[in-house]
Amino acid sequence: MSAAKTAPTRSGRARSRTRDPALTAVVLRRSDFRESSRIVTLLTHEQGRVVALAKGAHRPGSPFVGRLDFLNEVRATVSADRGGLRLLTRVELVRERRALRQPARFLAASHLAQLCDFAMPDAGPQPAVYELLAGGLSLLERCPPAAIGQVVLGLELRHLALLGALPDFEQCSACGDALGGEAYQDEGPGLVCREHAEPPRRPVPAAVLELLRQLRDTPGRQWPGQRLPTALAAAAALPARWLAHATEQRSRLRPLLFARLLPPAR
Ligand SMILES: [Zn+2]
Repeated sequence: MSAAKTAPTRSGRARSRTRDPALTAVVLRRSDFRESSRIVTLLTHEQGRVVALAKGAHRPGSPFVGRLDFLNEVRATVSADRGGLRLLTRVELVRERRALRQPARFLAASHLAQLCDFAMPDAGPQPAVYELLAGGLSLLERCPPAAIGQVVLGLELRHLALLGALPDFEQCSACGDALGGEAYQDEGPGLVCREHAEPPRRPVPAAVLELLRQLRDTPGRQWPGQRLPTALAAAAALPARWLAHATEQRSRLRPLLFARLLPPAR
């Protein structure tokens, strides 16, 4: 059965394929290298972040042309990791995600890609991070324009959960008492009860807490159609704080994205 599925190939290519299995990947970054080549950073399902040289990628007629665009989903064959720069030997385009070229979607997708990039350790597979990126890009490609903000917020909560940095929305992080509808921001990344909130207390409105709980508990594919208990703008600042705390990086894209999605009320 498997033999029947294998297309006949020249023996050299067949040999290299057995040695280096194709990786399922999203193109995270690329930069020029010498005159005609490119360095490509891939987020792969199987091996985490992979950096590889695409030789001759700028040459006309190169099999890489048009396949290594930012956020493309590809099947990439990369030489084994022997300590030096790995070689990209073959790329198959799986999905181009053209809809993400629209400005708000592009900003949202770039923000997600950057979060996933920050979250990756230098080595080792992180299939959950890959799935968050690939699944998130699909949602951002298809959701109605008005839902982009809530999809991004939902993805940020999932991302925080993967990092182990999603605050408990039910219990005070200091004493464990139920928060109910009354919570306060903590100095750190958690939420606390009134008693454990340092003055000046920064309350989190009950409707904001409920919005965050609902996004957390809803499957991602339902985010685009979800009716939220309050305006997204009221909740958008909290995940930004938690993300900055968890990753020690501040996204430059996020403020641009939310300024576009949530223009200040007049
Ligand atoms: Zn407490």
